[in-house]
Amino acid sequence: MNRLSPEPMATLRAAADDPVAYSQTWKATHEGSVIGSFPMNFPSELVHAAGALPVLIQESRAPITEGRNLLAEFYCGYTRSVADQAALGQLDVFDAIVAADHCVQLLGAVDVIRWARPEKPVHFAQLTSAMDDAWTRPRVAGRIGEIVAEIETALGVSITADALSTSIRTFNANRRLLREFFELRRSGRLRITASDMQVLVKSSMVMDVAEHTAVLERLLDEIDPAEDGGLDAVKLYLSGHFCHAPRPELLDVIEATGVTVVDDDLYTGYRYISTDVPEDGDPFEALSSWYLERNLNAPCPTRVTTQVDWDRYLVDQIARSNANGVIVLMAKFCEPHMLYYPELRKALESNKIPSLLIETEHEGNPVETLRTRVETFVERIRRQHVPALS
Ligand code: SF4
Repeated sequence: MNRLSPEPMATLRAAADDPVAYSQTWKATHEGSVIGSFPMNFPSELVHAAGALPVLIQESRAPITEGRNLLAEFYCGYTRSVADQAALGQLDVFDAIVAADHCVQLLGAVDVIRWARPEKPVHFAQLTSAMDDAWTRPRVAGRIGEIVAEIETALGVSITADALSTSIRTFNANRRLLREFFELRRSGRLRITASDMQVLVKSSMVMDVAEHTAVLERLLDEIDPAEDGGLDAVKLYLSGHFCHAPRPELLDVIEATGVTVVDDDLYTGYRYISTDVPEDGDPFEALSSWYLERNLNAPCPTRVTTQVDWDRYLVDQIARSNANGVIVLMAKFCEPHMLYYPELRKALESNKIPSLLIETEHEGNPVETLRTRVETFVERIRRQHVPALS
């Protein structure tokens, strides 16, 4: 079966593992600015169109030290890590920081940055989470206009429609390539481990998009289209985990039980690259369309809509990927996910889809306990749902 070529993967892994170092190098070589943004709905195309490097701020793997006193323990690991990074000066590489989502915990992290780095331009534009109202689209367009003005002021440039159209096409091309990897994994023609898939997507959140696209093209060039994998392991779908990537060691433990992850709706996964920005018409308006369509393509419990349900979507996607079960990864204390989970569970149970909930933490994920839980879950699937695999 096809596998990803190690050398290009090493380039992507280096950027994904240390976005701050990547940003520092990019800044020095391009003599340009770097703008940090927050998940999950910031349109990076705007920063690119302004000639700067857009970088989605990632959770650091380092234990939390300075930030321990700045946000309470019941904030999610991502926001506590961001607070820690701000207090330690690790976000200083960013010339400005922008946010478009309004999770209460994220707001806490933004407040810590403002407190710890008062000189840093930090802009918060709340893209409305009510998706179906008459005022939704104009309000979203207004917020995007505010982000444009903020970036222009921070960088002393203006974002033209032509530049934005070019950036939209560039990011769409990158997303299309990433979706090819998802399709190759889903079809079984390419073996991509869950942690390698995280590298592919996470690196796209932090790297120069043209450089990232070139590496993806190299990876695809080295895949033999005639090769057919023929997966015979238990196939799993991974769901959830907002705002930051699950730890690779956790994903490796899951796959070490002899299962293959075939698809996901993780934020650092399909959710991030699900939707392209329309390439015709006014490019600023197109970003509003992207924001609204994104929630239809991969429904998110942080948005309010009557048009789609995450539970219905999840059941359909699991069927589409021929997965035998789903592992829901939930960042501890992630309120939107916790509140929605009972609905998900009800839908999975009524559709007889085996599921396992795993809560993740910034520190102290008990790997051995996790291994036992996943092994038991997989054994249950083997016995009840795919006896041919027992
Ligand atoms: S949505 Fe969840 S993971 Fe994201 S910042 Fe809010 S609580 Fe944290």
